[in-house]
Amino acid sequence: MALKTRVPVREQDPKIRATNFEEVSYGYNAEEAMEESKRCLNCKKPRCVEGCPVSIDIPGFIKEVQEGDFEKAAKVIAVSSSLPAVCGRVCPQESQCEGKCVVGIKGEPVSIGKLERFVADWSRENDIDLTGDIEKNGIKVAVIGSGPAGLACAGDLAKMGYDVTIFEAFHESGGVLTYGIPEFRLPKTKVVNYEINSIKKLGVKIENNVVVGRTLTINEMFEDENFKAVFVASGAGLPSFMGIPGENANGVLSANEFLTRVNLMKAYLDEYDTPVRVGKRVAVVGGGNVAMDAARTALRMGADTHIVYRRSEEELPARVEEVHHAKEEGIIFNLLTNPKEILVDENGNVSGMTCIKMELGEADDSGRRRPVEIPGSEFTIDVDMVIMSLGTRPNPLIASTTPGLEVNKKKCIVANDEGLTSLEGIYAGGDTVTGAATVISAMGAGRSAASAIDEYLKNKYL
Ligand SMILES: Cc1cc2nc3c(=O)[nH]c(=O)nc-3n(C[C@H](O)[C@H](O)[C@H](O)COP(=O)(O)OP(=O)(O)OC[C@H]3O[C@@H](n4cnc5c(N)ncnc54)[C@H](O)[C@@H]3O)c2cc1C
Ligand code: SF4
Repeated sequence: MALKTRVPVREQDPKIRATNFEEVSYGYNAEEAMEESKRCLNCKKPRCVEGCPVSIDIPGFIKEVQEGDFEKAAKVIAVSSSLPAVCGRVCPQESQCEGKCVVGIKGEPVSIGKLERFVADWSRENDIDLTGDIEKNGIKVAVIGSGPAGLACAGDLAKMGYDVTIFEAFHESGGVLTYGIPEFRLPKTKVVNYEINSIKKLGVKIENNVVVGRTLTINEMFEDENFKAVFVASGAGLPSFMGIPGENANGVLSANEFLTRVNLMKAYLDEYDTPVRVGKRVAVVGGGNVAMDAARTALRMGADTHIVYRRSEEELPARVEEVHHAKEEGIIFNLLTNPKEILVDENGNVSGMTCIKMELGEADDSGRRRPVEIPGSEFTIDVDMVIMSLGTRPNPLIASTTPGLEVNKKKCIVANDEGLTSLEGIYAGGDTVTGAATVISAMGAGRSAASAIDEYLKNKYL
């Protein structure tokens, strides 16, 4: 009979970690992982796998952990995932594999994410080579964007023998894994770069500082560079704003810009020449993972930080674990609160934010209860910086420079379940198709597109 509770995971003390950028969770060690793995029932019909967008053989790898064969466990995961140390850290397991685990019916589900992280970290620390033999076919495929969708697609195609080049606009690779999710949740050098290098070892080339649509177009890739198929995985990096008075003041920025400056340009390290101005009192508007990351980053840079969110705690879209960590670290939550105006001083800087109290009314299209203003409940929060974290949309550059590439009303590229767009040979997946979603759904889209591209190219050229 499986124990009802999980083996707890060790974490940095909240008071200490609120002042540094080191990883919050230490993850399991070998003993803890083996202990936790015993809670898995190795179900014949594993519901957890149904909840995994890349269909990892979860009972298969956990069984190897039970037996202490961590290398075999890593090999089982590698069949389906090229970014296990990333996913073990940032996937919303509670609503995916762990949300479906049968052990969760009467107790806490098996800690699948922490076990995946342990196996991936062990494999990295022991320098296990998971690259198999590859027979090259010489056919060129281009991938636009080096986030999880692009990396997953490129990795799979390289394993199938294709000659894959990723074109990435930024000087560093990894997409949101590198410039969005902060170091304290996802270490860059130790984890992200290592997993990107593992994909490069499969033969994938990455060309950085190439903005497709500016440096070269998709049509030029086909006509001048002899690529036979293209996978567009350019994400959804364009931030939204509220359109309220004062939003142009100095000290208002999008969560994307703030996190990119801190992550990619290392603004938190004194020796870097790319500082970011952080206020003493910061309001982050929004309630998703991005808002939590921005708030916890501002806190670590010395600010008293508020989350301002128009619905209640129950509707917060961020992962429960992230909200819990944010609270432990001292983030103040102003719930059922909506900004009306950003106050600006005589020098054009933020000097406060007028908000209004909200209550929940009838359910809206999303199924969540609609927040409604309470008349006369306006009040001012004393802040000198406001970070807007209200969601993002795809940048229209690629669609606007690729005649015939269909996009929908939200400017997302239209693609079928296999990633095929309105144009032959051009596939798309990840946030650029779905709008802002998750790492694992982007990886799932990358993998599906890789299979479809393989099918297309085999029929046409092999
Ligand atoms: C701060 C933050 C925290 C998040 N936390 C989580 C989390 O905890 N768990 C989770 O599952 N998800 C999380 N997400 C969401 C997740 O990171 C994304 O859904 C995922 O990264 C999408 O992958 P992608 O490959 O589609 O796009 P991205 O990761 O956005 O990668 C797209 C890449 O394309 C490049 N690009 C764009 N345009 C061009 C062009 N014209 N030419 C060349 N390159 C181009 C970009 O520079 C970028 O590198 C978070 C997102 C953010 C912003
Ligand atoms: S559903 Fe839970 S118990 Fe069953 S195989 Fe998956 S992780 Fe193990």
